[in-house]
Amino acid sequence: MIKTLPLPLEIYPSQILREKARELKQKELQNQEIKQLILNMAKTMRENAGVGLAAPQIGVSKRIALIEILSDNPRYPNQREVSLVVLINPKITRRSFHKELGEEGCLSIPEVFGLVKRSLKIKVKALDQEGKKIKFKATGFFARVIQHEVDHLNGVLFIDKTKEITKGKEILESMTNNF
Ligand code: ZN
Repeated sequence: MIKTLPLPLEIYPSQILREKARELKQKELQNQEIKQLILNMAKTMRENAGVGLAAPQIGVSKRIALIEILSDNPRYPNQREVSLVVLINPKITRRSFHKELGEEGCLSIPEVFGLVKRSLKIKVKALDQEGKKIKFKATGFFARVIQHEVDHLNGVLFIDKTKEITKGKEILESMTNNF
């Protein structure tokens, strides 16, 4: 039987959060180790009330991102629900010119929130957890979360893009100074 465990989060300014994560080969998705990693990532995301989680956030530099948006999420309440999506090697193939400013946080930068401009509509290509090619469109908050997670896979954090820190400015400053 597979035991699913929540994993410890990498917290800013951890170096792995700044690395470009490596692509997975289609056949790697047959590995029990990767299947287990995805289960553990889902558990970690849920236990921390996240709406998304990228593998570098649990110390694995691979291009895997999970998204799950529940309307009762305390961090981002009343968003349109999206059931669990597993994205392997995701690529944003189109981004709308039309952008929207919205508040974001990150499980790797606890208690800090800021306003970030993101494309309102995007098109995404990826592999699913079975290694099948998928293609879809996303809008609004779902599109925002995908853009945030794909940034993680490229070593980019929302604090690099924020127009204004709305919560936890002192916390962020102390984290940065301790680096
Ligand atoms: Zn994040």
